[in-house]
Amino acid sequence: MKKLLLLPMLLLAGHALAQRDSATLVEISPLKGHSYLYVTYGKPDDKTWYPANSLFVRTPAGIVLLDTPWDDEQADTLVNQLEARFHEKVVACISTHWHADRVGGIKALAARGIPTYASAQTVALCAANGKAAPAHAFSKDTTFRFGGTRIQTFYPGPGHTTDNIVVWLPEDQVLFAGCFLKSGLATSIGYTGDADLQAWPASIRKTEAKFPSARIIVPGHESLEGNPYERTLELIGKAGKENEKKKE
Ligand SMILES: [Zn+2]
Repeated sequence: MKKLLLLPMLLLAGHALAQRDSATLVEISPLKGHSYLYVTYGKPDDKTWYPANSLFVRTPAGIVLLDTPWDDEQADTLVNQLEARFHEKVVACISTHWHADRVGGIKALAARGIPTYASAQTVALCAANGKAAPAHAFSKDTTFRFGGTRIQTFYPGPGHTTDNIVVWLPEDQVLFAGCFLKSGLATSIGYTGDADLQAWPASIRKTEAKFPSARIIVPGHESLEGNPYERTLELIGKAGKENEKKKE
């Protein structure tokens, strides 16, 4: 984790920019090997801009997105930027749960003919919540191969949502945890309206045990610094206590 000290600075610089043009701002930083981080901004509370971390992987078969940006306009901006910068096509997108920061740009990708994927649970939850759903569903943990580059999905159990998955990039030893893990520097558990606070800790331990060699762990939002496993467990504990108080 120590090697990543530069990234939060980049993200902070992005934050200043975000005041000006958040709606279409896409920030890109290389992570490791073929894996890149991209950050886009949404307004989940309708008031303040909030950054979301997503990834893309440059494979011999083209660029694969892990999650869409928050909306269709951003998804178009992202694809245009990537194709112009790398002279490679975006060939697929795999979404990690059904919230807007993961599937909000599905329609734009579909309109471009880009195949979109998610677990059967995620596709069903998109449909149940009136959202455009990824076109292709997988019903168990799946290893995608794009020109030989492996992209592996893993369902850890319920957590931030009941359908959240993480994505492992074995060549680069990068774990994209999405909203299943909070930043190691996060101060709040965030939105828990769809979370399973009871099951979440066991799901976290399972993931930690499954990917002991992860060199970089990318949480769904904010800094890549700190220990996202321990921080998320602490914040779940706090949220649980607050819920207890409310019940009394
Ligand atoms: Zn999120």
